[in-house]
Amino acid sequence: MCCLISAGGLNLIQLQKWNQAAVAKLCWDLAHKEDKLWIKWIHTYYIKDQQLGDCVIPQQASWMTKKILASRYIMLQSYLPSPQHQSMIRTFYLQLIGDLPRVQWKCLKFGNKARPKACFVMWLCLQQRLLTADRLLKWDIEASPTCVMCQQDPESHEHLFVTCTVAKTLWAKVLRWSNNQLCIATTWNEFVQWGISSAKGKAQQAQLFKMVFAECTYALWTERNQRLFESTSRHVDQLAKDLAVICTVRVPPGLQTLIHSFQF
Ligand SMILES: [Zn+2]
Repeated sequence: MCCLISAGGLNLIQLQKWNQAAVAKLCWDLAHKEDKLWIKWIHTYYIKDQQLGDCVIPQQASWMTKKILASRYIMLQSYLPSPQHQSMIRTFYLQLIGDLPRVQWKCLKFGNKARPKACFVMWLCLQQRLLTADRLLKWDIEASPTCVMCQQDPESHEHLFVTCTVAKTLWAKVLRWSNNQLCIATTWNEFVQWGISSAKGKAQQAQLFKMVFAECTYALWTERNQRLFESTSRHVDQLAKDLAVICTVRVPPGLQTLIHSFQF
């Protein structure tokens, strides 16, 4: 969750590392800003004529001073751009979390204008982390193995979002409405690759596609939950119409002309 979006996370800040980065920023101030009283004081009493990188951390110093001096390794290891271009703390923070491998489906997450809850469910779905029956059964948790949408096949991510007849019908309806290429995927990998290839780029159609993709994933998951836990259901036509209304309402100004040209 705390990774960058490009690495498959949600870009939440790791507070411990951010705190280390903030202390390293104070160390940078110590090395570069000589006009502040507290900096003059530390230089006069502790650093004296030594280099900041080499000086021994004085045992009699306060814990704050020790912490600041101890964080110099972060500052010394970092490549620092001009402070005007990027927050110094963020630069140190990115250095601390390091480079993580990028996920292919990051394009579906970046700049997605779908509702945050839809983006979150899509994020879980792309990693196959939703609590589908096959996963629950693997953990010995009691669950009905059959898909509640079609009442035919075992429930899994691949079935619920790709091969289930309800999912296929919903995808076909919303993709036809949004003028997108129909999904012909029969496996999970083909489905994800289709999503990635349709969402790549800055074209208006790609921007709209990722919104539709997230909302459709969310609609399937919530419909599955309603059928399973509340014994209520909506017809797939109604699901598609609701999805079209949500997308039309949420679409950013630049895509309004495009979405208004679609006929349901
Ligand atoms: Zn099914």
